Amino acid sequence: MNSLEILTQAKNEGWALGAFNAGNLEIAKAIIGAAQSFKKPVIMETSSGEAQHFGMKNFLSLVANFSQEFNLNILTNFDHGPGLEECQAAIEAGYSLVHFDGSALPYEENVKITKLLVQQAHQKGVLIEAEIDKILGDSKEHQELPESIQASGSYTDPQKAQDFVAQTGCDLLAVFIGNLHGTYKQPPRLDLERLRLIAQQVPCLLSLHGGSGLLPEDLQKAIQIGKIVKINVNTELRLAFRQTLENVLRGSEEVAIYKIMPPVVAAVQKVVEEKITLFSSQSK
Ligand SMILES: [Zn+2]
Repeated sequence: MNSLEILTQAKNEGWALGAFNAGNLEIAKAIIGAAQSFKKPVIMETSSGEAQHFGMKNFLSLVANFSQEFNLNILTNFDHGPGLEECQAAIEAGYSLVHFDGSALPYEENVKITKLLVQQAHQKGVLIEAEIDKILGDSKEHQELPESIQASGSYTDPQKAQDFVAQTGCDLLAVFIGNLHGTYKQPPRLDLERLRLIAQQVPCLLSLHGGSGLLPEDLQKAIQIGKIVKINVNTELRLAFRQTLENVLRGSEEVAIYKIMPPVVAAVQKVVEEKITLFSSQSK
């Protein structure tokens, strides 16, 4: 099955793929370990910074090797591609999906670049995810919700989303309905009514960023509405990695790095497994 068929199958069966950021080998191993135990397709992704750290081709080769070795269906995504050239490089390198984040651009400019990328990507069988309303926060631990989240004026407008998808032909749209990057002491809540309207008006599939800090019931309800097939998770993996590594180092004089890493991989894998379970809990 190709990427679109996998995502469409998830939509039809009422579950969503986790899209997990793999910033290094150990996190990649954790995601692969979880995918092995569930035998379900997952998305492994790199942000622009993570892609630079890894090297796009190194990352894609690593995923291809693991997929082949364990007979897994792993899609790859270039997450929050910041510009035309980076996204074109990701299409050329062979990611399955490329997310162009033009949310900071004027609307017409975002339409223009997204449309161009869709044309180029589709020639190579690559899918394009687009974004029109900036998803706030960043992928770390936060105390307070950002002030501007209180005003829903910046949330995705269903009418505007319909126009954008019609003009660009993007395959997925990243919605902003109260979801935030990062984790928060008080979890942000989703505007599910707005999501319902977007899902009715927009013909393409939808993605939900900020899967780390959301309440399980909000996530389940969002998936039930019917078009969310990709849920991004990064912060919780980063926190599990760092906290476990700190604990391991505190109690050990070990200098062989590969011997330090198994509990770190296990901790990250546990988070990935919890998310896969949650995202497929109502699967038909
Ligand atoms: Zn994101």
